[in-house]
Amino acid sequence: MMSKEVFDREHEFVMKSIAHDVSSPFAYIFYGGEPLLNKPLLLHAAQTVRMLEKQGRYGKFKPQLAIVTNGSLLDKEFIEACREYNMSLGISFDGVGRTHDSQRVWRGGKGTFKDVLRSIRLLEKEEFNHGLSWTVGPKNIDSIPRDIGWVVRNLRTRNIFFNFMSSYAGPPYGDLSEKDLFRKLHKIYDTLYKYGLREGRLARYQMLGKKKKTLSPYPFYCAAVGGGQFVLRPDGRIGMCQAGLMNDEEQWETPEEIGRVLEDPERLRWLARTPVFMKKCYLECPYFARCPGGCADRAEKKTGNMYEPCSFDCVIEKFLVERALIEDYIL
Ligand code: SF4
Repeated sequence: MMSKEVFDREHEFVMKSIAHDVSSPFAYIFYGGEPLLNKPLLLHAAQTVRMLEKQGRYGKFKPQLAIVTNGSLLDKEFIEACREYNMSLGISFDGVGRTHDSQRVWRGGKGTFKDVLRSIRLLEKEEFNHGLSWTVGPKNIDSIPRDIGWVVRNLRTRNIFFNFMSSYAGPPYGDLSEKDLFRKLHKIYDTLYKYGLREGRLARYQMLGKKKKTLSPYPFYCAAVGGGQFVLRPDGRIGMCQAGLMNDEEQWETPEEIGRVLEDPERLRWLARTPVFMKKCYLECPYFARCPGGCADRAEKKTGNMYEPCSFDCVIEKFLVERALIEDYIL
């Protein structure tokens, strides 16, 4: 677990590194394993950020603070602290009852759904606004439309954010053809649309179309590419991408090894990983105008080169582009 001293050291390095550019908003996301296992650190980090904010270290921006948690360690006291520091909460929720339990279990094998529901009820009782972080995988894809209906009837939250499980990564997509995957995903988004809901990831694509009324490139799949992200690891090293936390040792460096971020070759490799710099995207793909290029970490794992698109991500990104266009211009 990360100590307060390690956090302070790493975070101060980040603050110094961004001091030259406070022209865009900042967001801090805490997630796991299970971040609430280290509540003292979360509160220390939140307090530090709010203190630096008062000192004007983020320019005119108010940094966002967010935690993604399974909710098992939530209590009234911690919810109050989140309110005090204006920290939002996303609860990992993969469906109702056994569907959720098929993807999320405790160490002994017992499903976590009852505990997740208990924390959601607590958040509702405390009138604390929260969202659902919903992982779409082979085991729950068919039941998600039904479970969205359950959420609408039984829970107060209307904030849903999907993550797409890469066990679908292919080819092949298990037994699922691209066409069938599209059909199933459309059914999910049709259900959301029917209830007037906008899934978080899709909203990014839609915003671009709605606000700018143009098909301009949307290059940032995640904060690690293009936008510049710092992931702080408990051992005092800093990287770009949380997905490579366990398997991509190359990207993890101490502040001394990184030195000046704008000159660090590893960081520059990530910053330039957008479709504009991906040959296959700009030369061959009709989705180039709206696709952010998919996950760099998965591309590296699958192809050995993060500047090659990953076939799994291409399918998901094509679906999201298509869906955003349908919702923006047709429905
Ligand atoms: S769908 Fe794939 S090839 Fe096409 S722009 Fe997106 S990442 Fe690149």
